[in-house]
Amino acid sequence: MNQHLDHKALLGLLERPQLRRLLEAFNGKGEETRIVGGAVRNALLGRPVTEVDCTTTMLPEAMVKCANEAGFRSVPTGIEHGTVTVIVDGEPFEVTTLRVDVETNGRQAVVHFGRDFVLDARRRDFTINALSLGVDGRLYDYTNGTADLQARRVRFIGDARTRIREDYLRIMRFFRFHAEYANGEPDPEGLAASGAERQGLSILSKERIRHELLRLLVAQRAEDTLGVLARHGFLIWLLAGAAEFGRFRRIATFDREHPVPVWRLAALAVMVEEDADRLREHLRLSNDEHKKLAAYARLLAVLKTWARPIDAAAIRRLVAVHGVETSSVVLAAIDGEPSPGIEKQARDALDLFGSGAEPVPAFPLRGADLVARGIPKGPRIGEILGLARQAWLAEGCRTDEAYAKELLERVLART
Ligand code: ATP
Ligand code: MG
Repeated sequence: MNQHLDHKALLGLLERPQLRRLLEAFNGKGEETRIVGGAVRNALLGRPVTEVDCTTTMLPEAMVKCANEAGFRSVPTGIEHGTVTVIVDGEPFEVTTLRVDVETNGRQAVVHFGRDFVLDARRRDFTINALSLGVDGRLYDYTNGTADLQARRVRFIGDARTRIREDYLRIMRFFRFHAEYANGEPDPEGLAASGAERQGLSILSKERIRHELLRLLVAQRAEDTLGVLARHGFLIWLLAGAAEFGRFRRIATFDREHPVPVWRLAALAVMVEEDADRLREHLRLSNDEHKKLAAYARLLAVLKTWARPIDAAAIRRLVAVHGVETSSVVLAAIDGEPSPGIEKQARDALDLFGSGAEPVPAFPLRGADLVARGIPKGPRIGEILGLARQAWLAEGCRTDEAYAKELLERVLART
């Protein structure tokens, strides 16, 4: 099924004042600079364009000089690969010299700078990623990318298997771009080649796999694509463990407006706390990402052994202990499983905390309150506060002043 491409939005790119200034400065005197890749693709699809990359006949040093003369700031982001970030009125653009791959080893390419837009397009991964737009509004399509874009099809440029052997990350990218941009089943040639070359993924760094996987998890058709990955033997390798599709589906519905990759990973792949630790190693997750997965696992364990249906009072305690975000995510992930039941009031209460309409209850006593009443500073303070907090949680996390006073008297009487 062919769908309309948004040529008006495409030309709209050239109306952006900063981009316009960049292209005007970087074209002429025998040099040519075009918009390339994701910006052209997304504009044609009528999707938001947040980052604009350009490709140019100019060598990096010439770009820096040209930027200076035009009054733009420039940063040599990856100058040996030909990339300079040019900042026009606060907006950054990545501008890269036209390149050809002269040597590949499955991971990275040795590139030479060139002046040929066709060769630069052919070294790119998918036909829909190889389109470029000239300053005069002309769309260049050397790989039949517009037809594939119209058909919502992600296809390798050239022979899929050869292209994958040049860089195995393209397997991950194939599924990631399929999940984000395609309709229907993955391109059969790309799928077969990915399967045949699956082993090659193991020579890639874990960081690069993680980057593509996390982007795939938040793509529009993540769930379907995960199904394909599972059926073709990729998913068990990517996660080094089992997958929970039901929970993934519920999270993907819950966070549709603002998907958070790490929570989607949690729902998909974390069943017990060891999963969080293993995934940290397997995907070289950051400390913060690992903390979130572990928090998810701990709350999941609590809820899965919860004896009664979750009610509003339970929600108050859960958000006080585990925070609103973790509580909302875990409850969304398990909502619909046979146990625990989740009462309607519990969902309403969680919504109030989630929207900020109801503040998360904060434990009302401080060490200073005890010191002021003559308890000497030291570990004893922590112990007493711990007991007081237990009582506070059991009694419904009240935060009014009268309750705080009464609680203080009670714990002091007990010491
Ligand atoms: P996104 O919006 O996801 O960033 P994008 O098209 O900008 O989409 P990037 O990963 O930022 O994707 O890559 C920029 C462009 O560089 C791609 O459109 C593609 O043309 C090319 N590219 C990136 N990685 C590869 C690769 N491994 N092999 C071949 N070409 C690649
Ligand atoms: Mg990009």
